[in-house]
Amino acid sequence: MTAPRPDKTSLTVHLCAPRGFCAGVDRAIQIVELALEKYGEPVYVRHEIVHNKFVVDGLKAKGAVFVEELDEIPEAHRERPVIFSAHGVPKSVPADARSRNMFFLDATCPLVSKVHKEAEIHHRRDREILLIGHAGHPEVIGTMGQLPEGTVSLIETEEDARSFTPKSDRQLAFITQTTLSVDDTTGIVNILRERFPDIVAPHKEDICYATTNRQEAVKAVAPQVDAMIVVGAPNSSNSQRLREVAERAGCKTSQLIQRAAEIDWTAFEGISSLGLTAGASAPETLVEEIINAFSGRYDVSVETVRTAEETIAFNLPRELREMAMKSQTAAE
Ligand code: SF4
Repeated sequence: MTAPRPDKTSLTVHLCAPRGFCAGVDRAIQIVELALEKYGEPVYVRHEIVHNKFVVDGLKAKGAVFVEELDEIPEAHRERPVIFSAHGVPKSVPADARSRNMFFLDATCPLVSKVHKEAEIHHRRDREILLIGHAGHPEVIGTMGQLPEGTVSLIETEEDARSFTPKSDRQLAFITQTTLSVDDTTGIVNILRERFPDIVAPHKEDICYATTNRQEAVKAVAPQVDAMIVVGAPNSSNSQRLREVAERAGCKTSQLIQRAAEIDWTAFEGISSLGLTAGASAPETLVEEIINAFSGRYDVSVETVRTAEETIAFNLPRELREMAMKSQTAAE
């Protein structure tokens, strides 16, 4: 073991596990990479495939072209594949792609698709639907867009849950965004259940396993450390929630950081322990970059705090499975 350098103070990095990529993000990135291998460039992607600039820039370098709407794809490239992001899309988007004879691949996370199906089932059963989530997030736009406009009411806060007035005397049902704070959502759901005891809840939690596990790991680490860093993008819902969870668990300095260059060192002066995690769309290489940056100023030792094991993997779209097998064989 190397002796600590006298000019550096010791810092223990408590590394949360699980952290970083979830099965849905992994699958979405693979879809873009395999589509580029199979169909060549350019491959279009509607919206950031996952909310991480490093990932998006890496895919751009390989030939992916990111657009916000289908009509941004030039007429001459309408035969090129277009991929829908992991957050899911309103029904109007695939309908639009079909009407333009476009070939599309859907990288919507299967756990988001599950919520879409729940919304449809409630609608078929003539229930009035409440969606707990954040206005403007692409997942919320996609989920609300599974049903005709005005069908789903958005509940963002406990205050919304208290003031919500049903539009009809139909039975109520709620669904949620997959990347919410588990504790905030429990608060909202408790209010709804108290006000509407017959409200229909999801059979199985809509907040996904990855969001829940990452928040649990932060809850275990945050109370023991002087500061906490969440590696992730400001538009990543699950990363923002991790930062909030750390703060609420008692960690006074809790920052969301995309790259090591963004670290505000004054906020980390005099610390002896640092909690570190990454949102579901942040690659491990960025976590390593942060550890390396701290190693330049501290004698760093790393301890992993594991609160759950993850083994979930999702199937790829049928069109790309053969290409995935070929790539895997070539890599072996
Ligand atoms: Fe799917 Fe959850 Fe990952 Fe979102 S955070 S892509 S819902 S597994």
